Amino acid sequence: MGNQEKIAFSIRKEMVQSNLKGMRAVAWILMYVSFIITLIHYGEIFFDKTERAMVPIYIAIHTLMFYIDVAVLLFVREKRMTINSFNIQKYEHLVVVYIYTIILLITVISVMDVYFFHHAALYEVILIIVCTVFALPLRKIIWIILLTAPAIIASTYMSVGVSSENIKIILPMSLLIPVGIMIQYQTYKVRKQFNTQHILLDEEMTKTKQLSELLAAKNNELKEQALRDTLTNLPNRRAFNIKLTKIGHQLHKTQSLTVMMIDIDCFKKFNDYYGHLKGDEAIAKVASILEEVAEKYNAFVARWGGEEFVMISQHTEKFAEPLCEEILEEVRYLKIPHEQSDVDEYVTVSIGMCHAKITTNEHLQTCCELADQALYRAKKNGRNNFYRKKAIFDEKANASI
Ligand code: GH3
Ligand code: MG
Ligand code: MG
Repeated sequence: MGNQEKIAFSIRKEMVQSNLKGMRAVAWILMYVSFIITLIHYGEIFFDKTERAMVPIYIAIHTLMFYIDVAVLLFVREKRMTINSFNIQKYEHLVVVYIYTIILLITVISVMDVYFFHHAALYEVILIIVCTVFALPLRKIIWIILLTAPAIIASTYMSVGVSSENIKIILPMSLLIPVGIMIQYQTYKVRKQFNTQHILLDEEMTKTKQLSELLAAKNNELKEQALRDTLTNLPNRRAFNIKLTKIGHQLHKTQSLTVMMIDIDCFKKFNDYYGHLKGDEAIAKVASILEEVAEKYNAFVARWGGEEFVMISQHTEKFAEPLCEEILEEVRYLKIPHEQSDVDEYVTVSIGMCHAKITTNEHLQTCCELADQALYRAKKNGRNNFYRKKAIFDEKANASI
């Protein structure tokens, strides 16, 4: 269901619930009224012993109305009902069918009242209005009034003709009908206003929610961007520092750590020969292969700056050297031509690596520095290789290398 549909459904559900409530209220009133009238008429037969024609029918209709209302009160309890999109129409129909049935019975009673018993049909008119006002929307009440009022007025006329008695009945009836319509119209207007406000409020809330979600997403994006290098899309130096801080927080127990400083060989010459644009492309390619290797080894890689990268792995020592070998191999396998390289026909890298078991932040810093020094040695050793420095820290944080 879309958002608009959800709002429409919740409004419709509210209407049905309030109609069901109205229907129960009507059922309570009519149950008592029909019960009392039935009793009165039985009493009339019992005490007066004068059985007037039509009285049994009159009693039968009231008894029927009584049982219909008892059934409604027993089976329709809006709190026990779960109204959903599949059964909502069933409940809407139930209200309409109930009210129309009741109105039909009341109209028959009213006609009988004025035609056979020459009673005023006043209380039936009140009941009709009560029923409709409680449980039906305006467009439905109009039909009921159009159908019932002429029937009652006609039977009154046919029964007593134009007389003061007749006027006494018709006058309050003709007053009650517009009053009923007005009450219903007011209720309808209030409901409509409420629904419109409901929709507007909901729309505003949806908009605000969407805006704040967008803002949060943008915020996250910005945060992400602030930690990413634009050329390679790798984490940048700041992200690397955050990673170090995180490792620092884990130092309540000894951490196995491998730091690798990775530097592209003879890159100045690459730039001079192929131009800066090609240089950028080469850096990006090397970065993406480093990202793949890092992902495979569950390591962290960042662009340190220029054509240098740093990788951190928290695996045990046995992974340190295979990781370096794989980096060297994968970068060379990219086969980025480098005619001016002193080492190879393709772009290669040199790696300075330090593995250590660390327990303090000083150890962490030393490990990074040692990796940097190892890189210098790797370059000196002819490039396209890795040089390893192993640090063993004692309790006083001194490194023995
Ligand atoms: P070595 O093998 O000793 O590392 O030699 P090298 O030439 O790579 O060393 P050096 O650090 O002197 O040169 C690095 C060069 O990398 C200098 C600079 O022109 C180039 N460079 C640094 N950052 C970028 C970049 O973002 N894009 C491009 N195209 N070149 C860069
Ligand atoms: Mg460099
Ligand atoms: Mg270099």
